[in-house]
Amino acid sequence: MVDLSRRHFIKILGIGSLAFAPGCNSRPEKNLFSYVQTPEDMVTGKATWYASTCRECPAGCGILAKNKEGRVIKVEGNPLHPVNQGKLCMRGQASVQGVYNPDRIRRPLLKKKDAWQALSFQEAEVLLKEKIDEAVQKGENRVRMLTDVVGQSLSSLFQEALQKWKSQSPLVFEPFAYESLKTANQKVFGMDGLPSYGMEETDCLLSFGADFLETWLSPVEYGRKFKQMHTVNQGRKGFFGCVSPYQSLTCAHADLWLSCNPDTEIIIGLALIRETLQAGRGKKLSPELIKALQDVSSPFTKEKVCELSGVGADVYGKLVSRLRQARKPLILGTGTGAIGPAGLQVDMVANLLNGILDPELTLLDFNRRHRVERAAKRSEATAFFDQFGKEGEGVLILNNVNPVFALPPSNGIAQGLKQDSLFSVSFSNFMDETSQLSDLIFPVRLPLEAWDEFSGTSDIVSMVQPTMAGITGAPHLGDVFLRLAYGEKGPAKNFQQYLSIRLSSSGAIKDEKDWVNMLREGGLFERQSSGAPTCQWISGDEVRKTLGSVLLPKTAELSFYAAPSLRFFDGRGANRPWLCEVPDPLTKVAWQSPVSVNPQTLKQHGIKQGDVLELKSQWGTLEAPAYETEGVAPGVLLMSLGQGHTMFGRYAEGMGTNPVKVLPVDTDPVSGSPIYKVNLTSFRFTGRSLGSAHTEGSEGFRTQFGIFHRQSLAHTDGSKVQHGRKIALTVQLKDLGQEIKEKKPGLGMWDFPLVLPLPEGYDKKRDVYPPHDHHIYRWAMAVDLDRCIGCAACAAACYAENNVAVVGPDRIREGREMAWLSVERYLDEETMRKVTFLPMLCQHCDNAPCESVCPVYAPHHSKEGLNNQIYNRCIGTRFCSQNCPYKVRRFNWFDWKWPKPLNLQLNPDVTVRSKGVMEKCSFCVQRIKEAHGRAKDENREIREGEVQPACVQTCPTGALVFGSLMDKNSRVRKQVEDPRAYQVLGYLNTKPAVFYLKKVVQEI
Ligand code: SF4
Repeated sequence: MVDLSRRHFIKILGIGSLAFAPGCNSRPEKNLFSYVQTPEDMVTGKATWYASTCRECPAGCGILAKNKEGRVIKVEGNPLHPVNQGKLCMRGQASVQGVYNPDRIRRPLLKKKDAWQALSFQEAEVLLKEKIDEAVQKGENRVRMLTDVVGQSLSSLFQEALQKWKSQSPLVFEPFAYESLKTANQKVFGMDGLPSYGMEETDCLLSFGADFLETWLSPVEYGRKFKQMHTVNQGRKGFFGCVSPYQSLTCAHADLWLSCNPDTEIIIGLALIRETLQAGRGKKLSPELIKALQDVSSPFTKEKVCELSGVGADVYGKLVSRLRQARKPLILGTGTGAIGPAGLQVDMVANLLNGILDPELTLLDFNRRHRVERAAKRSEATAFFDQFGKEGEGVLILNNVNPVFALPPSNGIAQGLKQDSLFSVSFSNFMDETSQLSDLIFPVRLPLEAWDEFSGTSDIVSMVQPTMAGITGAPHLGDVFLRLAYGEKGPAKNFQQYLSIRLSSSGAIKDEKDWVNMLREGGLFERQSSGAPTCQWISGDEVRKTLGSVLLPKTAELSFYAAPSLRFFDGRGANRPWLCEVPDPLTKVAWQSPVSVNPQTLKQHGIKQGDVLELKSQWGTLEAPAYETEGVAPGVLLMSLGQGHTMFGRYAEGMGTNPVKVLPVDTDPVSGSPIYKVNLTSFRFTGRSLGSAHTEGSEGFRTQFGIFHRQSLAHTDGSKVQHGRKIALTVQLKDLGQEIKEKKPGLGMWDFPLVLPLPEGYDKKRDVYPPHDHHIYRWAMAVDLDRCIGCAACAAACYAENNVAVVGPDRIREGREMAWLSVERYLDEETMRKVTFLPMLCQHCDNAPCESVCPVYAPHHSKEGLNNQIYNRCIGTRFCSQNCPYKVRRFNWFDWKWPKPLNLQLNPDVTVRSKGVMEKCSFCVQRIKEAHGRAKDENREIREGEVQPACVQTCPTGALVFGSLMDKNSRVRKQVEDPRAYQVLGYLNTKPAVFYLKKVVQEI
């Protein structure tokens, strides 16, 4: 034995620890400061929630913003808000990435020749005041303004200011302005505006392209209503049919898709009028109107319609019989984009069909109208731009609009903005295509930092309030306008006071208590009726005039459609990294916008998926990689709007292509609507394809930030089909409730029983390991595939809550995306058209294959059934990932970056993982822990529904349910007892704690 003295032992120990010290990966030292005077509503470590309104699109969903130590880290839907009832889409989730965007402009910028000079906010305001005063001196109408849709108070202030400056009211510009739908409502019903649709009450919904699950009017609201009518209820399910030459996400949920030739929707609509009149419907309409409808529709017999539209006679017949049987049908017109030249006629036909089938228009509510109706027609916007500089010297004020990106380049806005006689100021926080051409960029507070009011529908008042202090020091736009218009003698000392005065003078609030109540709840939600206008039905003559001369479509070999984007809307969301990273649900392509082409068309032209195509129309040219899909009709090419920015920050710049490059600058002569469809004059393969894209440097480009992008598809698609692996299952409506005979007995793929991840799910005959002893709770989730619409709001919410890293297109190409929850899309192998979406996340198995292979026990099974990942134990062998059959574990190949100030959004309750560590869904364990703390303080158990992981909380359709299986009355336990319940790859005996309910399909 070695003779070791105590002194010698300590010496060795000291040397040993010194040797190890340099190897330790210690983080740089940081300082912690405490408040001298803490704000009264802040408790360190505790979140404060503020109710406000989402301003990422004009729908106006209610939000609750979670503020921790002064910074907003997450937004969720406000359960009290009537529009979204507590739910939120992925764009709403990403609103925090606007506030903390690293490319946000922090100071006003003045253009000096070709360079930008930073000004103080005060200098910028003084300069702008001088310019406005100079313009006003020169005569009337010298100050023009273009703004996005804003709330009533800000809109009133704009009007007052422009009146003082002897100029016209601002023009409200929205790329998706529903011109044809508004014109059709006026022409057919004699009613202005955009009504709310009672979609949840219909038993037969037909859409001529309205993308109500993506961008149309109010997607979170209509997503919820759609699933209310289109889910199984007492053995029945509503019918949804879609007439369109391509499959949008909305159309992908149709029970019957009439994939028609381009521009033939109008013919199908007229034929349906003929069929429904022949079936004796519409008797309550005036005989004169019925006669006119018979006259205009009589040429469109079944044979003729099928021949012209390319729709099979059987499919058409099924739609007709569904419409005839319907008790409460609802017909929707065209979408916000992808409108062909006959858009107005299609919308009129949709309205007339509603009139024939339901003359009382019970499902159209003109008392509750969508605020986006205030947007001007595109033709008015282009006329406005045409006037730039022609009216002499003046000032142009742009508020939160980007027409240079949204409109086809041939309309000359860019040239107009460059005129010396015009001083243009852009109230914008980002250097986008329009701001870049302005003389002054004036950043202002974003909605999460500002006072305002924005009511998405006409029957409520919805508040916008600061959910955090401004992070750039920018002033409020309302305050700037008050000072510019009134100087020191304004009607209110600031915009907050202006707002409260307006609300009290309108009778919305009486006293301070009402004001506080409104702030607490997010608005005033008791329905305020404005008195519905009475319907003035279109005359027979007008029907003959507008629908009597339907132009039969000219056969074009290739038609190109630009469709609104679920992720980027009209392009305003393209600089939010989460929206770029979460792939498009149908193509599964992230960061890019490929052009979708039918396989038949690709074959005809000798092209394959990934080839870069050059598309030409008489208006312009674009290049984009091809994506092969049966989701578009032969001869149709489809591209998503929103990407292809030349400016707009590091996440947007150079990503994808802007399809408006090839679109017509002309608008519809009657409705003033833009046309998002064009016939191509040429279509060719550029000779470049994605196959060679990985050759270093050959096919890429470098952005101004030095980021190199390869021109290849960054998709997260493992496989489009299931290869019979029993993953996303469906059941026929007629088979519901019947006992399904298994193909063969035993423990094979098709007959393995559903086994609970509880002791009762263990059987000595098939289980080697003993059951886990769960303590009070066994957390589990149920996913109803029949309710999932594939909107990926859950995926975005997971990024926001769990500090999931954004890796960018190059890493995605390498298969290194970090998403904890991904919405998988599977197509049926027979037609490759029927789509099933399946949210996939860690299954928190009881027999977890990852746990048994880790040499250091980093995956750990908790007492409550959670499969925890112990980060500081993980040594990165990745055995767990290889052994996980669900492929939901993500390895950190790098230390991912959160460029400042994006790091301020990080959730302090969740560890930011570092290089070399494995991670995956934790069922939002931080929320479970928080609920434990509350329950302990109140000396009780966690209540049913008290814990909602971020994905469950946001899902617009309620497809996800979370709870404890130990509670026999919990919703999740009840869902497991549903005959539709199954476990993905459950036959591997992993005993997943995520249960799926089969999607219910109906044979039409
Ligand atoms: S589960 Fe996810 S993808 Fe499916 S509807 Fe809910 S939020 Fe959308």
